[in-house]
Amino acid sequence: MKIDDWDQIWVGAGLATMVADGRSNQEIADGAIALKGDRIAWIGSSAEGEQRAQACGLVVSDAKGIWITPGLIDCHTHLIYGGNRVDDFEQRMSGASYEQIARAGGGINSTIKMTRAATTSSLRDSAAVRLMRLMAEGVTTIEIKSGYGMSLEAEHAMLQVAHDLGRDYPITVRKTFLGLHALPAEYADDRQTFVKLVCGPWLSALHSAGLVDAVDAFCESIAFSVAETAKLLEAARLLDIRAHVHAGQLSELGAPQLAAQYRALSAAHLEFLSAEGAAQIARAGTVAVLLPTAYYTLQQSKPPPIPLLREMGVAMAVATDSNPGSSPCSSILLALNMACSLFGLTPQEALAGVTRNAARALGLESEIGTLEVGKRADLAFFRIVRPAELCYGLGVNPCERVIRGGTARDLRC
Ligand SMILES: [Zn+2]
Repeated sequence: MKIDDWDQIWVGAGLATMVADGRSNQEIADGAIALKGDRIAWIGSSAEGEQRAQACGLVVSDAKGIWITPGLIDCHTHLIYGGNRVDDFEQRMSGASYEQIARAGGGINSTIKMTRAATTSSLRDSAAVRLMRLMAEGVTTIEIKSGYGMSLEAEHAMLQVAHDLGRDYPITVRKTFLGLHALPAEYADDRQTFVKLVCGPWLSALHSAGLVDAVDAFCESIAFSVAETAKLLEAARLLDIRAHVHAGQLSELGAPQLAAQYRALSAAHLEFLSAEGAAQIARAGTVAVLLPTAYYTLQQSKPPPIPLLREMGVAMAVATDSNPGSSPCSSILLALNMACSLFGLTPQEALAGVTRNAARALGLESEIGTLEVGKRADLAFFRIVRPAELCYGLGVNPCERVIRGGTARDLRC
């Protein structure tokens, strides 16, 4: 690319390129980054950047005191839902467990009721508030799951809202059909029929409507079995759709092994993960998505086996799991902090978890997740002394500017 092809350049910034550099991430302390259109055109030192910009008469933007990272990626959320679950919270604070609340008809089923009763516009408006909070922290890509409709009509509505949010806001949205999330009351005595509908006509209709980038299942003792989950993953495979799996949140059922068998993009939670399960997801290239804010909300005591994941070379992502029950959280920076403080990730690992590895968890690693020439110009500007500070703060948002696809985004949008 010719120098005078550049549209804009920032100099004097720290660049957390997030390109893997051994166990840490590449950083350029006094760097410059140039953009052309929606792409990163050049990365180098400030001195060289200034020289080149001067030679072609391009105005230089000063970014002293700023660290630039790739736009952050929240790769696992349930952002769209009706109502909230403050009632569950009160019960939990009185000693009831997540499982007890679910078995007593609260939990996910109450959200299904509220989501079905909500209008499309109210689903959209309430999700947009959460979306904007994440965007204000530098998030430029988000995955949003369905799973609170649990009828074809209501799942379609959720995925359509996710699609519309991506169209109407300057953020990339990946839509996941979480077909096996909770068994709705009307199928309580006929789960086989429900699973067949999800894996057959529902998946097919939603896929035909262009609303399914991936599928997901909650494979857990209180949700769906390994055999049921396998049916959805197999149906998706036949349509060439990739999968995510909620695996090992509350028990060890063999879900990570199933995710590996289907070369799932990601396996999430993994508090319960055997050495064999870790070895298999490592071999399959499945990303482990860690959800520390859910772990915190549920006051769990057994964190995911981080040393095992490291030893096996499993790529680790970190996400908010934003949802009304176990993670009423709209802060990727809080998830970063908790990934370190509760799970023992290093700040370098946590940061890779919301950039490079999160991109991989969505199958988007060739487009986003690192600052590299040719990748999409999704950038977040933070006023911090060094990148680890993003994991250190609690309730602090040092994000000052976001560029998405080469265009500045209003942080208040
Ligand atoms: Zn989840």
